[in-house]
Amino acid sequence: MNIQELDKKYVLPTYARADVEFVSGKNARLVDANGKKYIDFTSGIAVVSVGHGNERLTNAICEQIKDMMHMSNLYYIAPQAKAAQKIVEASGYDMKCFFGNSGAEANEGAIKIARKHGERDGQVKQYKIITLNHSFHGRTITTVKATGQESMHNYFGPFPDGFVYANGIDEIESLLDDHTVAVMIELVQGEGGVQPLDKQKVQALAKLLKEKGVLLMVDEVQTGVYRTGKFLASNYYEIEPDVITLAKGVGGGVPVGVVMTSLKGIFSPGDHGSTFGGNNLSTRAICEVIDILNEYDANGELARGIAYFDAALENFYNAHKELFMEKVGIGMIAGLRVKDADTLGKIINAAREHGVMVLKAGRNTLRFLPPLTITKEEIDEGFELLHTALTTL
Ligand SMILES: *Cc1c(COP(=O)(O)O)cnc(C)c1O
Repeated sequence: MNIQELDKKYVLPTYARADVEFVSGKNARLVDANGKKYIDFTSGIAVVSVGHGNERLTNAICEQIKDMMHMSNLYYIAPQAKAAQKIVEASGYDMKCFFGNSGAEANEGAIKIARKHGERDGQVKQYKIITLNHSFHGRTITTVKATGQESMHNYFGPFPDGFVYANGIDEIESLLDDHTVAVMIELVQGEGGVQPLDKQKVQALAKLLKEKGVLLMVDEVQTGVYRTGKFLASNYYEIEPDVITLAKGVGGGVPVGVVMTSLKGIFSPGDHGSTFGGNNLSTRAICEVIDILNEYDANGELARGIAYFDAALENFYNAHKELFMEKVGIGMIAGLRVKDADTLGKIINAAREHGVMVLKAGRNTLRFLPPLTITKEEIDEGFELLHTALTTL
């Protein structure tokens, strides 16, 4: 059986897979099983932040697993302590971290922090968590319920109670009541369609929540770790959240999730945990990814890469106003809104056929999440291929 047949026979069909299998990559370049080459504007959905086949990351991981891959959170784990320090220092916030294995798990941790925080006076139990329509917070029973998309709430009930959906940031204030413990938002909605929130509104919301004693929890699973050009989108928005979650880009491809909070005393031993989370392998990867990207940021490469990518996307947008009506995003989480949602699938397929990988977001957005280390040559080549692909539509 070939791979497609094996997959169809033995893997549950939860994904509408495209007809391609990638076998190797270098930075933003990919090679498929037929030897065909591609430019990658997706980085595996914002995961491969330091590029495919990054040598420093590969070496760090290999070095680590020769010594120790995994022991247990019952004992001290040096790279975990160091990864936490690196994350906290890069964030600029006075916080502590918990390590899990995915974005959904990081958000589960955030929700547990909120729910425990809501117990604090023993009188009125505060438990309600407000999230936004079109948000995406994960696929576990709880995080899928936290996700403000009704279409994702089929079949899986009964769900945990206490999630309330605001129709945009303006509606949050009117939904606050004595039972509200937290508001959880993405600053740039990713899956919802590359939808950056308004900076002034976010700052006003942060101020309001602080006054009301309601936690602000920011889901930075997609926006975190320099995706916007700052270490966190929260830094870009100049706010101080109480809880922040990270995942996609922070391990460079090694599965990790992080929840960090200024509520340093919230958990006691036994309140939360994970068998795999924070193990030697995954936290060593985090350390190396953050070191690489901190240097990339400090020497100006990141800002130059973002500026170059943004200009290339702008040129591409201006050349194709017949298809696109708006350019959106911040840094390297960017998108183009198509005029006609029916063209989106055709664009993505034609792009793939011509050797460039791009993503869909929401109903009508072509999404770009390149590796943060993408080079000018790779950017130029990618947009040239995309340009050619569009001429065949
Ligand atoms: C991808 C994503 C998640 C879910 O992460 P998983 O690792 O797939 O569980 C949660 N929130 C946001 C904003 C995401 O983009």
